[in-house]
Amino acid sequence: MSRIHKLSPRLANQIAAGEVVERPASVVKELLENSLDAGARRVDIDVENGGIKLIRIRDNGIGIAQDDLPLALSRHATSKIDTLDDLEAVATLGFRGEALASISSVSRLSLTSRPRANGSSVSTEDAAPLIQADSSAAEGAWKVEAEGRDMDAKVSPAAHPEGATVEVRDLFFNTPARRKFLRTEKTEFGHLEEVVKRQALSRFEVGFSLRHNQRTIHSLRPATSLQDKERRIAALCGTQFMENSVVIDVEASGLKLWGWVALPTFSRSQADLQYFFVNGRVIRDRLVAHAVKQAYRDVLYHGRHSAFVLYLELDPANVDVNVHPTKHEVRFRDGRLVHDFIFRSLHKALADVRPDDRMNLND
Ligand code: ADP
Ligand code: MG
Repeated sequence: MSRIHKLSPRLANQIAAGEVVERPASVVKELLENSLDAGARRVDIDVENGGIKLIRIRDNGIGIAQDDLPLALSRHATSKIDTLDDLEAVATLGFRGEALASISSVSRLSLTSRPRANGSSVSTEDAAPLIQADSSAAEGAWKVEAEGRDMDAKVSPAAHPEGATVEVRDLFFNTPARRKFLRTEKTEFGHLEEVVKRQALSRFEVGFSLRHNQRTIHSLRPATSLQDKERRIAALCGTQFMENSVVIDVEASGLKLWGWVALPTFSRSQADLQYFFVNGRVIRDRLVAHAVKQAYRDVLYHGRHSAFVLYLELDPANVDVNVHPTKHEVRFRDGRLVHDFIFRSLHKALADVRPDDRMNLND
């Protein structure tokens, strides 16, 4: 063993990357969260070879000022929290300031942005696809690049409309041991698409597109009316789900639960269509899972799984999302209240359904 010494920033970031960046899907998750945190109304995602070769995400959010660009790539640098108090009520998806530093240490990353002009906000009309905007892009944009190097990122002038584009090429090119763990292009893309799906389900007001190897996989316009939302759900979860589910919308004791729950006529052999969002963040939580399962207990045959897209909204101060960056866990201040509320709301919604609807089972 040698003497104690400081790790280089690059190695420190690569080690940290082991926590956050497992595969292309995790990169997409982090980048999408950044776009949404930046208030984007439109996000275009372009990937090649399952995201292994290229992930490009362009948004029309607030963008990043020239001086802040290199900082965006450095570790523990964030614009989202300042004090411990902020952490208590954090409303953004990110706040650790680790993602871009981690990703850039294991890929060839570029970040191009033009900050939104002071005071201008993104209007709903700004939801057109951004891919074609390139040639007409205004000047006054800047680009920062990093290539798995130490964090001496260089900034150069570029052309870009208001918003930001992050390009991640050749994931794990400098960490062959990690690269070896990647699966086939198809499998990686499947994971990646699932991440996009979750975000698209969590932000109806944002337009999304997803292209894989030049092919459009999803093209989703912003949805405001219930009808628009149901169209998006059908596009992402299938028309079968949409046609066999009921709308739920309940509010009590500072808790609001809304969304779509499949009737027992649409049970599944796997738990592969279960989405639960807490304050816009997709979660997988034991307490929630238990409450849902209990509600379905009497109407589903043993071994069958329910399907649902549900949204729970509550005061951010009553839920702790600062548990782990990749595990989708949360901690409720009053878990029992949340559990009983979910159970009772779903139980009632399912009990209200005509008995005829509960007869046949399909997948
Ligand atoms: P975190 O999201 O935890 O703050 P990240 O490493 O993901 O950390 O991002 C660092 C910072 O870079 C963010 O706090 C934000 O200020 C800025 N940033 C990243 N992506 C975008 C984006 N698409 N638009 C605007 N700002 C961004
Ligand atoms: Mg982030």
